[in-house]
Amino acid sequence: MLETGTLIIGGGLAGLSAAKGLERKKPYLIAERENRAGGLAATLKKGGFHFDYSGHLLHLRWPKTKKLILDALGRNCGLIKRDARVYTHKSWTPYPFQANLHGMPDKVKADCVSGFLAAYNAKWQAASEPEVFSRWTNRVFGGGISKHFMLPYNGKLWQYPLERLTTEWCAPFVPVPKPEEIINGAYGKKTWTMGYNTSFYYPKRGGIGALSTALAMTSRGLRLGLEVESVNLRKREAMIRHFGPVRFKRLINTSPLNDFIARTQDAPAAVRKAAASLRHNTVYVLNLGAKGVKSDMHWGYFPEERFPFYRAGIASNFSKHLAPSGMASFYIEIATDGRALDLASAETEIIQGLKACGLIESASQVVEKLWLKIPCAYVIYNRERAKALPLICDWLKTRKIQSIGRYGAWKYSFMEESVKEGLEAAGKILHGY
Ligand SMILES: Cc1cc2nc3c(=O)[nH]c(=O)nc-3n(C[C@H](O)[C@H](O)[C@H](O)COP(=O)(O)OP(=O)(O)OC[C@H]3O[C@@H](n4cnc5c(N)ncnc54)[C@H](O)[C@@H]3O)c2cc1C
Repeated sequence: MLETGTLIIGGGLAGLSAAKGLERKKPYLIAERENRAGGLAATLKKGGFHFDYSGHLLHLRWPKTKKLILDALGRNCGLIKRDARVYTHKSWTPYPFQANLHGMPDKVKADCVSGFLAAYNAKWQAASEPEVFSRWTNRVFGGGISKHFMLPYNGKLWQYPLERLTTEWCAPFVPVPKPEEIINGAYGKKTWTMGYNTSFYYPKRGGIGALSTALAMTSRGLRLGLEVESVNLRKREAMIRHFGPVRFKRLINTSPLNDFIARTQDAPAAVRKAAASLRHNTVYVLNLGAKGVKSDMHWGYFPEERFPFYRAGIASNFSKHLAPSGMASFYIEIATDGRALDLASAETEIIQGLKACGLIESASQVVEKLWLKIPCAYVIYNRERAKALPLICDWLKTRKIQSIGRYGAWKYSFMEESVKEGLEAAGKILHGY
């Protein structure tokens, strides 16, 4: 039987970073089921275009991970000032909506500002714990901003009832302006720079996959095409499809936590039940190559129901090398609650939507397309998650298993955080965990 010191399930950024921390110090094996590394941080080539799994931009905030990522990319990296917008009521305004009401028609602006002031001055009763999104947004932003942006946009994204969605994820991702910023954003000074991602790094060439490729190149223990079918944590054994058993001393899981527990033979019934209660949405990304595109925005948010997509971006505006000369590349994201999307009718509606907001003039501009599906895209924050996670994590701790990354830890996180958790998991192993 094959034996290794640390088995890492998954060669996305979390797995590759864990490997980086162990490299030349401790033996490890990354089992990655796909025939490429990178997980969601990957880039596919089609017809002269480079398409990511939707926009994947690097917002770097921690010195150690920032250094690792920028060193891996070397000169192949640009720092770009964000141009993100919101399209609603037949108007564009800069993102975030709540701080940039100036782009909205007068009636919408007045609705949002008066609703905000009413909520600001209201005496709210303490919320039942944890607070749900629909209440939170009405309490923090008021009825107008909630009605015109927060509720419809988040409904489209999460595909889950907003009166059951909890809010632990909001702090880094939903900027809350001060009252004067909301008023200024409506009637005075323009605010282009609020939010968690006012500028971002992105590879100059090769798409976000350039980062994964750079990390994968230095990983000696990465093995592609190896799917972990089952694990027994007590026996320290994993079964790999078409390959056979592998014995390990330590295990780092980066695959989705619900699947991982389902594949864990010795998980107790209560842990299995908790894992089975975890929910997520599914995102379909239509990548389009197009000619004659004039917009220079990076991405836009679309709260209105008449647009099937919640977000659409122009990737070639972060890196012109993603598209052949004179062409542009779009990524358009549609979320479902897991139901299959009818791709043909979605395409028709997407083209209509892109025309309606002026991003293209005619369907004949489209020269290439590639659908990508992200089955487990955003994990759902609800009361069931709040109860299930501690139970699962406590049991994994008793087996000394680290489950990390956006899906291993079952959270709304980002690439840098997966890198951070990979390095930390390796650090714990180097210190004898
Ligand atoms: C639509 C969307 C947009 C995003 N945009 C951004 C952005 O702009 N900026 C940002 O920082 N982050 C963004 N993210 C988040 C980012 O993609 C993730 O945080 C990060 O890539 C997760 O890396 P990971 O290694 O934790 O997981 P993954 O990338 O999911 O890697 C896990 C790996 O495990 C493998 N695997 C699964 N099961 C098994 C098995 N049984 N056996 C073997 N291998 C297995 C998978 O094939 C995969 O390669 C976005 C996410 C989504 C869904």
